[in-house]
Amino acid sequence: MTDCVFCKIVARDIPATVVYEDEDILAFEDQNPQTPVHTLIIPKQHYSSISDDIPPELLGKLFSKVKEVAKIKGVEESGYRVIVNKGKDGRQTVFHLHVHILGGIKLPIFVGPAD
Ligand code: 5GP
Ligand code: ZN
Repeated sequence: MTDCVFCKIVARDIPATVVYEDEDILAFEDQNPQTPVHTLIIPKQHYSSISDDIPPELLGKLFSKVKEVAKIKGVEESGYRVIVNKGKDGRQTVFHLHVHILGGIKLPIFVGPAD
C-alpha cells in the first residue's frame, strides 16, 4: 500500500530502528515509546487490522515472534504486555496490523481511564 506508513518502513522508504526481520515479519522500535521497551511487530504484507482475512499461518508466525523479540529486547524473563489495537475504540492509529510489546517497567494493571 503506497499510503501506509508501515509499508513504507518495510520498503525502507522511511527509517526505523529494526529489531528483527525475516521474509514475512518485521519488528522495529515504536517512534513514540510508552515504556522503556516498546517494539512493534508487523507482517510485511499489508493487512489493515486483526479483523482482516489474514492467513492463520501468518497470524501464527506473527505471534510466535513475540517471545523472540522479547528475548532480543531483554524482557522475556521480566515479562511484558502484548497489545493489538483495533478500530476507533481500540485507538488504532496506524491501519497496518501491528503487535505492540510493552515492557521494561512493572506495568499498571489498567491502561487508564477513558477520555
Ligand atoms: P496504534 O495506536 O495504531 O496501535 O499504534 C501505532 C503506533 O505506531 C504508535 O505507538 C505510534 O507511536 C507508532 N508509529 C506511528 N508512526 C510511526 C512511524 O513512522 N515510525 C515508527 N517507528 N512508529 C510509528
Ligand atoms: Zn501497510
